[in-house]
Amino acid sequence: MVSRVIPVDAFDLVIFGGTGDLARRKILPGLFRRFLAGQMPAEARIIGVARSELDDEGYRTEARAAILEFAGEEATDRESLDAFLGTLRYLVVDARGEGGWPELAALMRADVVRAFYLSVSPALFGDIAGRLHQHGIADKASRIVVEKPFGRDLASARALNASLAEHFDEGQIYRIDHYLGKETVQNLMAVRFGNVLFEPLWNSHYVDHVQITVAETVGVGGRGEYYDRSGAMRDMVQNHLMQLLCLIAMEPPSQFDADAVRDEKLKVIRALQPVDYHQIVRGQYDAGQGTPSYRQDVENPRTHTESFVALKTHIANWRWAGVPFYLRTGKRLKGRVSEIAVVFKDLGHSIFEGDEKRHRNILSIRLQPNEGIDLQVTIKEPGPGGMRLIDVPLDMTFADALGPERNDVSDAYERLIMDVIRGNQTLFMRGDEVEAAWAWTDPIIDGWQARNDVPKHYDTGSPGPEDALMLMHRDGRRWREIRG
Ligand code: NAD
Repeated sequence: MVSRVIPVDAFDLVIFGGTGDLARRKILPGLFRRFLAGQMPAEARIIGVARSELDDEGYRTEARAAILEFAGEEATDRESLDAFLGTLRYLVVDARGEGGWPELAALMRADVVRAFYLSVSPALFGDIAGRLHQHGIADKASRIVVEKPFGRDLASARALNASLAEHFDEGQIYRIDHYLGKETVQNLMAVRFGNVLFEPLWNSHYVDHVQITVAETVGVGGRGEYYDRSGAMRDMVQNHLMQLLCLIAMEPPSQFDADAVRDEKLKVIRALQPVDYHQIVRGQYDAGQGTPSYRQDVENPRTHTESFVALKTHIANWRWAGVPFYLRTGKRLKGRVSEIAVVFKDLGHSIFEGDEKRHRNILSIRLQPNEGIDLQVTIKEPGPGGMRLIDVPLDMTFADALGPERNDVSDAYERLIMDVIRGNQTLFMRGDEVEAAWAWTDPIIDGWQARNDVPKHYDTGSPGPEDALMLMHRDGRRWREIRG
């Protein structure tokens, strides 16, 4: 069985920041993979735009190097790579000046989808949106794609939304959260809403708690300056973890369309309870063997920015009354894991003796490593020796169930870009969602600042600060293990 690829309409995709890190690592390699998959029509064009003095050929040389470095094995097909590079153009355009805009206007075609990917600092969003409009490059059918961070608090997110809204309708704005482009995240919706099994159990009567973990082994890397102004709460919780929580907790939308799904997500965010000071733990990693401490990484010996957050929150609605949602994310932890675990309640009465009672059903949705969904179920341990129970995963990992041909390797970015071309906003954040998420996050961060809160230290390679373990232990629960 071969994966179905539905070609998209012809397009001109302009990448502002076309020479930048994100374009090199994700956008260009992702587009190349879609090209290899046969999804890009022959008339598609990708127009890199940045400040570097390059021409088409110079840009193609840079793009070739980036694709060979980041696209994986497929890039060894040099013939296809040459054909793909032929779709690339380049223009020097200054987002804040007048240079290059008339040339860009002249290059764009009238009869194709026009999409503008703003892979630049958010400080330039308003300038670019304004000039696209002023030079008649964007019309009511054009699409604009913006990257995180979408603001650093509610006020700045509102200002960004307002600057985009001056020239674009909400239906034209695609705010990327690449977690939503992951295969498993979409499969979570298919599993939840495509099966009769789960919905009856998806509530406070049967779910004990939900835990969401996004653990990284890396430190802040070369992003120290940016990260230290942001921290884990702004960089991860406000967007990625919040989006995952919404998909788990939302009511079934009436249909799978952009506004129906996003309306339900917004209701979840608005129902999130404020987080009590005692229900949140911040951390900063210490130096490990041969690795620097957080403070050394960001070259700020007195910084109180967190590289780790764990928190407990509740959703104040009928479905989730009394069910805690535990979220944690951090850098330099024991393993690289992104996982949502829905932990079901104990049986009301067990017919089995002794410690055979402690088995629980857990639905775990893994974004990495080994993307997949499994349901932990209890069975009898095979063989003689009486009724001994063991937990085994009912594995819904796609590669195993569907065969290697259907194990689509496409990356979140490339799926999302194809959704932009198709005009499908379902997996993009709406402006009101982002603002509601900041409205929940702001008081937490303001509280830390008001108290001059100092993060707890944790060992590199550990599961995080001891207090984060206590957050769950106090409730008689524990975090799922972060495997190294
Ligand atoms: P970068 O600094 O590597 O690249 C910036 C690009 O913008 C360059 O191509 C540069 O030429 C161009 N540019 C800067 N000023 C310009 C101007 N006045 N006019 C025209 N072009 C100009 O940045 P990046 O890492 O590629 O990040 C781009 C955006 O994506 C940022 O908003 C960042 O926060 C976001 N983002 C990046 C990553 C990542 O992995 N790099 C991940 C998530 C989000």
